Amino acid sequence: MIGRIAIFASLVATQVYSQEHRELGAHEHGVGQMDIAIEGTRLWMELHAPGADIVGFEHAAGNADDRAKIDSAVALLARPLDLFVFPSAAECTVVEAKAEIEAETHEESGEEGGHDHDEADAHDDDGGHTEFHAEYALDCANPSAIDRIAFAYFETFPNARELELQVLTETGAQAFEIERNAPVLELAGRS
Ligand SMILES: [Zn+2]
Repeated sequence: MIGRIAIFASLVATQVYSQEHRELGAHEHGVGQMDIAIEGTRLWMELHAPGADIVGFEHAAGNADDRAKIDSAVALLARPLDLFVFPSAAECTVVEAKAEIEAETHEESGEEGGHDHDEADAHDDDGGHTEFHAEYALDCANPSAIDRIAFAYFETFPNARELELQVLTETGAQAFEIERNAPVLELAGRS
């Protein structure tokens, strides 16, 4: 059982890694990425959201006010059940939650091939981007009761417009786009 979970978790990690790789230097403001993986009573979630969505800016925190906004956002992101609301019958509790801000650098590491300096100038707007990154593990005593997830996330973060969501279960992966004007994922009939 532990072996299966480890394999499953590494599958999720691989998927998340490739997504991160794809998004490097190219996130769209207003649009975050989220992965949810459910296996048995365990539920993993991982969120990447532009700094613009979460605190409304992406410059380095230059003053106490900026730092306070970032700290308060990290604290909000560390409470997943307030942002992603599961049916109470599912009896989900937080096993682990961590959130952080990370700078998205535009280093020319060779990943993009040898691009010339014109292109470097093109994304020299205001000094790069930041993203918030959060990882969660939940335990849901009654996972079959998860027929919907309500995204209070959009109320908490008014600059967020959309989450590109991937849901991975034992029966496969499904992609969804959750938008501010319809912030609910319906999972009825999932299994
Ligand atoms: Zn950005």
